[in-house]
Amino acid sequence: MKKIIIIGCGNVGMSYAYAMVINGVGIDELVLIDINKEKAEGEALDLSHAMSYAPKNFKCYSGDYSDCKDATIVCICAGKNQDVGETRTDLIHKNYDVFKSIISNVKKSGFDGIYLVATNPLDIMTDITYRLSGFTPNKVIGSGTTLDSARLRYLIGNITNINPKSIHGYVMGEHGDSEFIPWDNVMIGLEKANKFLTKKQMEEISNEVCNSAYEIIKKKGNTSYGIGMSLLKITNAILNNENAIITVSAYNKEHDCYFSKPSIVNKTGIKKSLFITLSTEDERKLAQSIEQIKKNKLQIGIK
Ligand code: NAD
Repeated sequence: MKKIIIIGCGNVGMSYAYAMVINGVGIDELVLIDINKEKAEGEALDLSHAMSYAPKNFKCYSGDYSDCKDATIVCICAGKNQDVGETRTDLIHKNYDVFKSIISNVKKSGFDGIYLVATNPLDIMTDITYRLSGFTPNKVIGSGTTLDSARLRYLIGNITNINPKSIHGYVMGEHGDSEFIPWDNVMIGLEKANKFLTKKQMEEISNEVCNSAYEIIKKKGNTSYGIGMSLLKITNAILNNENAIITVSAYNKEHDCYFSKPSIVNKTGIKKSLFITLSTEDERKLAQSIEQIKKNKLQIGIK
């Protein structure tokens, strides 16, 4: 039996849930948990009614932490969202407290599947999940820059009129202000993207990728559809044992922290992070981004 638990039924959790329903994800059960039980109940009812017209039927209900026991994936989308002008890092203390209670409850259930984390600050919350759960790091995955990489592909596709699926570009580092695009490694089909784009276009794309969340939050108060589909992409890679290359936030032993880099995702979680040849400038950017994540971690006393 394949079962997914979503903890946190807000904008992100429910966009992910709806993406799973309308895409007919291969599961038997979807369980919704929220500190606001009525909200979880209402969302589960509403989603259940969509099943009549969905490509695949699965059971959808609101539950409690004991339901995590035999789950394949527990996805955590609970916690505080950014207010206008707030950075992801500003959420760190509040969401640390939220995670302490959530992970302790999931642990009590005997859960032994894969954690998928979406809450910000993403790399820190994934690291916290890894430490509090006691799981091996391959079984704790952060959505990382999966969303940012989707934004990158979309923007390049828009300029070049090429399907984003034929654009191979990866945003690396923190899912946050220090993330960067290793442009030397971005490919359109078999050619380097920097052959087709001007320096100015690449700068504009980099800024837009990094600042999209601020722009969307200013206009609609939250971001949801992009992350919903990004979580679905990771979920399918796990459920279907796809060995897909995705920029999830993965544990790095050398730096003892989580950050995003292209990694192979399958039914075991993160099978392997790939070695990437970066330019000297991009190596420097990656080192800076990792330093930023480590500094953020120190705020909550994790070394
Ligand atoms: P939201 O406020 O709409 O939803 C959060 C939900 O969490 C609420 O329903 C709330 O009741 C629930 N919750 C709070 N504390 C809880 C607890 N202890 N146990 C169970 N449920 C609890 O927020 P949102 O817009 O859905 O954002 C959720 C998180 O996702 C934020 O941290 C946001 O910054 C992050 N986010 C991440 C990405 C990404 O790319 N990873 C993208 C967008 C948003």
